[in-house]
Amino acid sequence: MAERVCLVHYHEIGLKGKNRSTFENQLVDNLKCALRDTPVKLVKRICGYLLVTFEGGATPEYQDLIGKVPGVARVSLAHECRRDEEEYCKAAIESLGEVPDFATFKVHAHKSSTDYAMHTLDINRLVGGALCEAYPDKKVDVHHPDVTVHVNVVQGSVYVYAASEHGAGGLPVGTAGKVVTLLSSGFDSPVATWMLGRRGAICIPVHFSGRPMTSDTSEWLCQDIVRALAPSGVVGRMYVVPFGARQREISLCVDQKLRIITYRRVMFAVAERIARIEGAKALVTGESLGQVASQTLENIAAVDEMAHIPVLRPLIGSDKQEIIERSQQIGTYEISSQTAPDCCTLFMPRRPETHAKMDEVHEAWDSFDHDAMIEDLVDHVEYMDFDQCPSYRPPRKLRERHVELAPAVWEKKQVPSEG
Ligand code: ATP
Ligand code: MG
Repeated sequence: MAERVCLVHYHEIGLKGKNRSTFENQLVDNLKCALRDTPVKLVKRICGYLLVTFEGGATPEYQDLIGKVPGVARVSLAHECRRDEEEYCKAAIESLGEVPDFATFKVHAHKSSTDYAMHTLDINRLVGGALCEAYPDKKVDVHHPDVTVHVNVVQGSVYVYAASEHGAGGLPVGTAGKVVTLLSSGFDSPVATWMLGRRGAICIPVHFSGRPMTSDTSEWLCQDIVRALAPSGVVGRMYVVPFGARQREISLCVDQKLRIITYRRVMFAVAERIARIEGAKALVTGESLGQVASQTLENIAAVDEMAHIPVLRPLIGSDKQEIIERSQQIGTYEISSQTAPDCCTLFMPRRPETHAKMDEVHEAWDSFDHDAMIEDLVDHVEYMDFDQCPSYRPPRKLRERHVELAPAVWEKKQVPSEG
């Protein structure tokens, strides 16, 4: 009897030339990690696919888990047959029977092994004949079929499948370095985090909470968000920065219209310090142009000035509706729908500046000891590990490393040493 297995297709990593095996090996590791709570038996490369087998056979549920892993273009729930014509024809009949709605089909045979004598055209004819007999009301259409039944001869086996599910696409996490993502519990930043993870980056979220001036609810929501992202394996470690008391200090000395910009400059400075400790090469935010007062071009520039590494904004041109749809797809929508006070709701001005003038921003910045504040916030960061990203390596000695990297004076536009 044919065993049910998953065949994993990966378009993009096939294009990577000499790096191909690095990408494939990373995808194998990531899949093993994503499937560790299933009875997975084997994840291995076979002729341009990954084959995943399970104790008791693959199921649509496991297929779904595999599809969430970045780097997976498509997943097929295939039958693994012997080189036995009767067996693989039967599997083809079963595969086509699982496709819900179709009128036309074709068979596409492919041989990766040359020691199987039958020609692919003959395999097409043989399997096509069996299918016509089993489904007399369906028609063959070799040009534009509703469904294609694939019959792949690979090594000693024949893999047969009809329907494939789309996967996350992109590249395996761990092939594009590390990024620090500024994570709130809103809709946008979890999506921005997932998008960078889907391009192969290991994401290190940093969340600024209003603690001790607010409850720690936003921190719990952020933890839930990271857990919701677990199937994709994009998050290495999450940092939490209790920011409430420092915001209060800022609110006492900075003109109310420049408060948000000033908070955000501090957030960027602290996030960049964490990036250096982690060896991350960019910051990521969930900003989209014009969405709120702080997301105008002038205000973005006023905050960007704090960063010496690239600031990536994958959602800058997205509409809220598109972001919400993506959050539903990645499983963070319900969590982000809950509101919680965080540093963004604390000490907010009634009329924030929408078009910041740099000289005013600098004046506000110099009205308090920002270096000491940044230093103190970095000293009090907390972190949490989630064990979902197999390629994440924590900084070896967080504290020593931090002391080593801390500049005596925070200088504008100083180029940081590489982490
Ligand atoms: P989101 O839905 O991601 O919360 P938003 O629409 O609420 O975004 P802002 O509050 O202006 O927009 O935040 C813009 C970006 O700044 C967020 O996408 C996120 O990257 C970062 N950010 C906002 N609040 C926090 C926070 N408390 N901790 C860390 N980063 C934050
Ligand atoms: Mg927000």
